[in-house]
Amino acid sequence: MHAHPDDEASSTGGVYRVLADQGVRTVLVTCTNGEFGDAPGGIKPGEEGHAEDEVVRIREGELDRAVEVLGISRLIRLGYRDSGMMGWPQNDDPKSFWATPVNEAAAKVAAIMMEERPQVVVTYNEFGFYGHPDHIQAHRVTLAALELIDYEPTLYFNAIPNSVMAKWRERWEEEDREQKAADAEKGVVHELDTLQAEVDPVDMGTPDNLIGATIDVSSATDAKREALAAHHSQIGESFWMKMSPDEFRAAMGTEWYVRVTNPQGLEGNVEDLFAGYR
Ligand SMILES: [Zn+2]
Repeated sequence: MHAHPDDEASSTGGVYRVLADQGVRTVLVTCTNGEFGDAPGGIKPGEEGHAEDEVVRIREGELDRAVEVLGISRLIRLGYRDSGMMGWPQNDDPKSFWATPVNEAAAKVAAIMMEERPQVVVTYNEFGFYGHPDHIQAHRVTLAALELIDYEPTLYFNAIPNSVMAKWRERWEEEDREQKAADAEKGVVHELDTLQAEVDPVDMGTPDNLIGATIDVSSATDAKREALAAHHSQIGESFWMKMSPDEFRAAMGTEWYVRVTNPQGLEGNVEDLFAGYR
């Protein structure tokens, strides 16, 4: 259960490909069309040249490509309108995913679950991993859908352990310092408020001892990188794409999950999302 086109690649791309290689059927539900992503050239919503229809069309094609690369068996687009970032006026658009009653969307998701009967369901934690309203709503809708079906799958939230997040943060801060130094040399001065925003990052980490599944996706890093690259309009300039293929392989070979429901009575940190089912 993902919020936007590209989330399937960034947070779960490795497991999708690994599961496909194992012959496991996977279903991706993407809740929104991603209207408020960047237009080509990094044009932000609200800026001149950002046409929602064009962004949606481009992101549809990008998602189709990523689905193919990751070997996802079935893609379902719920087609809700992107809600924008928290606090944006788009949050209040009645067509936005955020403004959609949870039960209304949950009924649709429950119907999909009853048809597919997944053994394992994956979505975000109650914080939506990083606070985006569409991610929070995807969490709420998934949990509400699970209340409507006639059995209990194993539910996981994607996660990054605090120990790993600390290393990433170091890397980002280093890149940031280098960027600022380069900018200073060119005479670019950063406003104080943007500096302030950068030193107060959202806490996306999970305590290491809460991780319930650590998945080796090292066989799938090239596919994950290719799936991310497919979402070129959104993450062409991201830190992922700045890594060389070798760096990417070294850094992205593991995905982590928190186990939320446990009908199979699993203990500890497992190495397979389908542990107990095979
Ligand atoms: Zn997203």
